[in-house]
Amino acid sequence: MRPTVLVGLIGTGIQASRSPALHMREGEAQGLSYQYKLIDLTRLGLGVDALPELLTAAERLGFDGLNITHPCKQAVIPYLDALSPDARALGAVNTVVFKDGKRTGHNTDWYGFAEGFRRALPDVNRGHVVQFGAGGAGAAVAHAALTLGMTQLTLIDVDPSRAATVAAGLNERFGPGRAVVGTDAATAVAGADGIINATPLGMDAHPGMALPASLLRPALWVAEVVYFPLETELLRTARAIGCRTADGGGMAVFQAVEAFRLFSGVTPDAERMRQHFASMGA
Ligand code: NAD
Repeated sequence: MRPTVLVGLIGTGIQASRSPALHMREGEAQGLSYQYKLIDLTRLGLGVDALPELLTAAERLGFDGLNITHPCKQAVIPYLDALSPDARALGAVNTVVFKDGKRTGHNTDWYGFAEGFRRALPDVNRGHVVQFGAGGAGAAVAHAALTLGMTQLTLIDVDPSRAATVAAGLNERFGPGRAVVGTDAATAVAGADGIINATPLGMDAHPGMALPASLLRPALWVAEVVYFPLETELLRTARAIGCRTADGGGMAVFQAVEAFRLFSGVTPDAERMRQHFASMGA
């Protein structure tokens, strides 16, 4: 009999998630009987306060683990027995593994961005980077940027207190002065090697870009976290003037690659998962 893996995703409004297809197709290719269930709080008419009940139910039903998404990534932490160092540093969990009666929280989002970046822009200058957006994804992406060895990160958020909180955490972990809060995009981008968009701008529901197109120049690299659509206005504009770019698909795929490995103990074929993701269309 094939080894079985039973996992799921808890979050709100997750019906369009690509995770079930991505995990199950790879599980099949690896010879596993792999089931990935959506536990959609919106569909169930439940709130975040249902988390303890859902975690216990999943554990008792024999789930191997759960992915956790908005709005539960922080709220799940009190119900776990242990955290990986990255999840602890980020204060956010997107993957919970149930093993030997213990619940361990991991964060594979930052790894997803880092791995997507390494593959898409392997040889770009990692000097000064300007990141727009310091929310949930932004905190993970900023952690990835400094882990990738970027020298200095300027964080710009319409809510400067968010940028300040993320910068303070980064400076504690990576050393003083590595992250600063920016207020003027033109000044920050003028001296940058690359920019990262970690705001929702570029999604259909949030059209536009976090910076004026006039600030882009061909020597800047541009990395995006929005992946729905895969080609955002920012990427389209940047590509048109010759910037090198990384789309948000890398983060989405590689967080799943690492979660698959944590859930199953099997190292998935990352390239096959990437191609499958790309074939799902924008
Ligand atoms: P969030 O609401 O937690 O954070 C967004 C942040 O952007 C907020 O702090 C907000 O103040 C800031 N912001 C909004 N407009 C801005 C602007 N014009 N300039 C500067 N800052 C601005 O949201 P989130 O969970 O961090 O998600 C952000 C985006 O990342 C979403 O579009 C989501 O789809 C995407 N995302 C992608 C992946 C992936 O795997 N590729 C993973 C997680 C999230």
